[in-house]
Amino acid sequence: MKKAVTLLAALSLTLTACSNTTTTTDSAATDAKYTAGTYTASAKGHSSDVTVTAEFSESKLESVELDVSGETENPGQAAKEELVEQILNAEDSNIDGVSGATETSSAVKAALKSVYAQASGEEASESTSSLTDGTYTETAASFGFMTNMTGDVTIKDGKISDITITEESDSLTGQWFSTAEKLLIPRIIESQSIGVDSVTGATTSSGAIKNIVSQAIEEAGGDPADYRTETEKSTETVKKEGYDVIVVGLGGSGILSYCAAAQAGASVFGIEAAGEIGGNSISTYGPMALNSENLKEKYNNGEDYINADDVYNTWIEYVGSEEKADVIHEAVYNSGSALDFYMDNFDFSFDGLGGLLGSFVVPEWTQEWTVYTADEDNTKWYVLGPDHLYQYQNALNKAKAMNENSDYMTELTATELLFDEDGNVTGVKAEYYDGTTYEIYGKSVILATGGFLGNDEMMEEYLGSTVSTIGDTVNKGAGIQMGLSAGGTTYATGTLPMIHISQVPNLIRTDELTADQKAILSALAVTTDVPMVTVNGEPWGNANQSGTDEESGITVEIAYAPEYKYYTVYSASDIEKIKTEGLSETQSKAEVAFVGQGGTLPAAGTAVSDIEEILNAGVTYDDVLVGTPEEIASKLNCDVNTLKETLTEDTTYYLVCCAGWSYGTVGGLDVDVNMNVLKEDGTPIENLFAVGQDSEGVCNTDGEAYTPWGGQAQSWTFVSGQTAGTKAAELAQN
Ligand SMILES: Cc1cc2nc3c(=O)[nH]c(=O)nc-3n(C[C@H](O)[C@H](O)[C@H](O)COP(=O)(O)OP(=O)(O)OC[C@H]3O[C@@H](n4cnc5c(N)ncnc54)[C@H](O)[C@@H]3O)c2cc1C
Repeated sequence: MKKAVTLLAALSLTLTACSNTTTTTDSAATDAKYTAGTYTASAKGHSSDVTVTAEFSESKLESVELDVSGETENPGQAAKEELVEQILNAEDSNIDGVSGATETSSAVKAALKSVYAQASGEEASESTSSLTDGTYTETAASFGFMTNMTGDVTIKDGKISDITITEESDSLTGQWFSTAEKLLIPRIIESQSIGVDSVTGATTSSGAIKNIVSQAIEEAGGDPADYRTETEKSTETVKKEGYDVIVVGLGGSGILSYCAAAQAGASVFGIEAAGEIGGNSISTYGPMALNSENLKEKYNNGEDYINADDVYNTWIEYVGSEEKADVIHEAVYNSGSALDFYMDNFDFSFDGLGGLLGSFVVPEWTQEWTVYTADEDNTKWYVLGPDHLYQYQNALNKAKAMNENSDYMTELTATELLFDEDGNVTGVKAEYYDGTTYEIYGKSVILATGGFLGNDEMMEEYLGSTVSTIGDTVNKGAGIQMGLSAGGTTYATGTLPMIHISQVPNLIRTDELTADQKAILSALAVTTDVPMVTVNGEPWGNANQSGTDEESGITVEIAYAPEYKYYTVYSASDIEKIKTEGLSETQSKAEVAFVGQGGTLPAAGTAVSDIEEILNAGVTYDDVLVGTPEEIASKLNCDVNTLKETLTEDTTYYLVCCAGWSYGTVGGLDVDVNMNVLKEDGTPIENLFAVGQDSEGVCNTDGEAYTPWGGQAQSWTFVSGQTAGTKAAELAQN
């Protein structure tokens, strides 16, 4: 049963827990303000529970520790030092917070208020500050970069009665805002709290909505800290039994597996962690499609349009091994037929950008991949790709309707596999957003959780470093971990992450700089006409340095750079030149709009008089390093002499960071041609399958970029999804 409790009430439990650290003194006899001791409280921040632990003497707060480790690195964790300083300098719980880190600050304030209350011996109270009726218009930075998010919050009879977002640009990138709007707003109103969980898969939009409500509460005379009530989680367990196939993750490969299993007559249950189905797959442009019958008919008079044997041989050559030749064979020769299966049975359509497109790397493959039809009337194209969510929704609902026992749930996060006493996989355990545990039992399980981009530990373990992310960070390697728990093994987890886009690592989403100023910062990062160094201070990439691929004109292969980033190098005189003479031809044409930072660049030769302001903002956001070669070597923790091979003058330098932004990881579980997860000895786990980015390593190789023809990743979702769904259904029926 759900029950709302106030933060303060909840925290009284915490107080009890740490009462043994309280020093007992006769405070009544003295004029003590506080009971000396250590007190702890937590409150919901942007993406985690933020904890404040404070030590009080009888007269004041003496020291404080903040645990903000679950918050985003920037701005959340970056605000820690300043927040600690504010707390130590304040006389009570009233601190300003750090601009840009509003949600983390607000949670810290709420928890701080509670530790003060505990130390003062105040009664836990359910009362909240009263609000003045009215409609309050507020603005907050969010995911979209074209405008901030603006909303009207109506307070009626002292309660939050309506939240209407009137302007936002998050929707330009995809479905995230609409998911947050649909799910979060009613929950805030129902619970009268901004302490409710952000919607999984839409955390930035959720955070902006909560921020807007927080500002409105403040303007209405309330204290937002009083409105961070947490909803008590359910402790119920629900069992669901009798499914033929369970699909974990309803992005592209999961939905396609679901459809194939349903088409083969199976009853299927789908588990999706995010508030909306689709995962990365609904942001993609499209899949490789070799000689699909439908596309042949539509675009090539029924004739083959590409030599599939050539693709197969090139692929084997690229991975440098025949170890997985049978799987790569399926990936190549089924890529057209898998597409046809879904076009014919589940209404998928591909005709965006005019049909069939040429490969990125093999010029002879002039018709190699295709692009989804964009939204319903084929008019809307999004910054991250055409939104074809409706195609996946349509397919999933059509598949679900094929068997009355089939179903799926969103906001349900799979946590582990279930086993019988002999160690056979029998189902999946998952947690619903309200805390309810689900145990779902079925004959086969298909893992389709989209790789491990969102799991920092796995990124460090398999790839040696984290990376900036465009792809879904809900994808935390759950499928891979579940496969391992069943005795499965991995394949090519060291395949480099998918990176096609470069940008500064820390986007400036506030209006500290104008969009055009942000564009200049981005241009300085992504331009290819200046010297570059790696994070280790070694020369990198461009025409003046090593590693240039002059033939292709690709000067920097950022996926191969240590930590997936490098620095472009400007001396003080280079910056002075930009100030008076403007950007170079190459810089003025740099691609700066991707990911979300940047307006329009000035023409080459137009003086950039505000270059210092731009670079200073870059320094604040850790996008720019400034100093002498010695100072920069110390910041990078690298050898100064190595750095001086590039930073040759005795002057101040500006190093602008250019980071690769990744779509997702590639390596995952080892699978055979049936998509069965393999054990280390090469034998299959018969009723466990892995698809999409949970098994894409089998088409790739450690230490190299993923197969770069064009659309290969999406194609694998189609091929692996069709195979796994069909095989899992067959297994259940036999
Ligand atoms: C912006 C962008 C553009 C791209 N463009 C292209 C392109 O044009 N061509 C191409 O080939 N590839 C492209 N890619 C890559 C491609 O999208 C992916 O390779 C592909 O979508 C992977 O599909 P998937 O099913 O493995 O993962 P996803 O589609 O991401 O699905 C994984 C799903 O699992 C869910 N999930 C994760 N953990 C859990 C859990 N514990 N419990 C329940 N559910 C969970 C996630 O919420 C998600 O819905 C692009 C990627 C991005 C981000």
